[in-house]
Amino acid sequence: MAKGLDPEFLQQLKSKIDLVELIGNYVPLERKGGNWWGRCPFHHEKTPSFAVNAEDQFYHCFGCGVSGDAISFVREIESVDFIDAVKILAERAKMPLPEMNFDTEKTAEQKRKRDSVLKILRAAAHFYLDNLNSGHADAHVQYILDRKIASPVVRKFGLGASLDYKSLPQFLLDKGFRREDILESGAVAESEKSGRLIDAQAGRLIFPIINAFGDVVAFGGRVLEKTDFAKYKNTRETIVFNKSKTLYNINRIKKLKQDSGLKDIIIVEGYMDTISLFQAGFTNVAASMGTALTKDQARLVKRYADKAYISYDGDFAGQKGAIRGLEILRDEQVAVRVVPLPEGFDPDDVIKRQGSEGYRACLDNAMPLIDFKLETVRRKYDLSKPEERRNYIPEALKVIGEAESESVKEELLKRVRSETGVTYESLKRDLENVPAAPRMQEEPEPVPREDGADRQAKACRFILASVLFGAKYAKNFDISGVRFDNPVHNTIAEYIKERQKNGETVRPSALFEIFDENTPELSEILDLSLGESLEGERAVRYFDDCVRTLERARVEQELERLSALCDAETDLAKKKEVTRRILELTIRLKNF
Ligand code: ZN
Repeated sequence: MAKGLDPEFLQQLKSKIDLVELIGNYVPLERKGGNWWGRCPFHHEKTPSFAVNAEDQFYHCFGCGVSGDAISFVREIESVDFIDAVKILAERAKMPLPEMNFDTEKTAEQKRKRDSVLKILRAAAHFYLDNLNSGHADAHVQYILDRKIASPVVRKFGLGASLDYKSLPQFLLDKGFRREDILESGAVAESEKSGRLIDAQAGRLIFPIINAFGDVVAFGGRVLEKTDFAKYKNTRETIVFNKSKTLYNINRIKKLKQDSGLKDIIIVEGYMDTISLFQAGFTNVAASMGTALTKDQARLVKRYADKAYISYDGDFAGQKGAIRGLEILRDEQVAVRVVPLPEGFDPDDVIKRQGSEGYRACLDNAMPLIDFKLETVRRKYDLSKPEERRNYIPEALKVIGEAESESVKEELLKRVRSETGVTYESLKRDLENVPAAPRMQEEPEPVPREDGADRQAKACRFILASVLFGAKYAKNFDISGVRFDNPVHNTIAEYIKERQKNGETVRPSALFEIFDENTPELSEILDLSLGESLEGERAVRYFDDCVRTLERARVEQELERLSALCDAETDLAKKKEVTRRILELTIRLKNF
């Protein structure tokens, strides 16, 4: 979207910028085929999968899926907003910025609000910090002492104290911040009863959450007295804070990577685990702020390291969280291990009781998913008792049945042999009789099954990609006959139709004026341009397949509509007509 600036100006600006040269300032690029290739600046990788299309002036990473034009590149790499990215590029191209119009004022207002919120959060962090040192925060200080966090570490993480409901809002108002902005920051809420402003973290020990650019974006707060409230609470989501896209301590992870090259990241659940590990010398630690690691968080991990340890609590919930997190990271191509902790311990407990050597030993014992699952099962039983051994074996075999290779199965069977004293041969026989292993119980079933909807979505993507990238076989294809249900597909189709109608060339790069960079569906479509997937005999055949798939789907939908109509129709003549249509379409469907 033009986002407030004259579209013509933006076009001119982009045409003056050579994207290969611009990106080449940040990443070495090498020409290969029609594209320029380099290692992606937005995720961690060894072999280049980041492509710059010089002809059409856009980039796309086949690894992590980011894509965009010159403006989005500058936004991402310089972490600036749209207007600032345009300013940087305009300076580069020696073009004067046009007058701001009304839309730009709106953008400017948004920028002002964002800046103001960040200032408010920073001021609040300082306020909390001063409270902690004020001599009035005994409970907070005591908690820190009990948890044995040393003063320099307390300062490093900017820990603070909220003392009551009233003083933070008052402090912020006195500083001259606007009431609406203060509310927007999430640090302060409005009392439902009195309408007064109240500190959202009243009374808590405060952990500032800082993003990769060093901005305070939210707070985590821990209650100090025994209450029914949850122990931890985060600032609600705001224009600067999205919990599922942030990791606690990511600011330091980023710095570590810049300074020394980061090998791996230890992922823990909470603030205290992070601080405790950091204090024990494991500085490459970040917290998911809750058990469930999200896909966005996994991508963030991938940006800084391609190896990760999951170190969640040694209780069942923690372990289930670990397994889920492990699968998500694996899907993002992060090599990942689970750190087994003693039952009922969190990482902080291990450090407290066994010191950093104790935790180091846990790290050294970190294991792949299947080993971890087997270990989880083994811990449920006392293998010195014959009966428990007997109950252990079938459960263990169920896990082993999930192993991907025979060699892993063999290795795990040998482990069970030595644990139980049962011969390898009989274990192997029993394993063969274990029914196909179900996934871990109570797990949501993320089975990527290819159903009709998937097939249709794939067909839509392929058709759009082949038209966008000008494949020969798609040249005379009339896209207006295709129905696209997905809104992204639909918008792309509209764009294509518009261009075709005016006899203009279709350019993928123009899509970045319509969509936000990193629109997943768009990324899927651009991915299809890799290698030869849009070229050659197979592509031609697949294209026809896709067209047929969609036509078929359309007929099926129409049939469904007509049968409903037929059921509801009371007029006999009309009913007959509908039945005739149904028959016609049924025959057509058979001939596909
Ligand atoms: Zn990438």
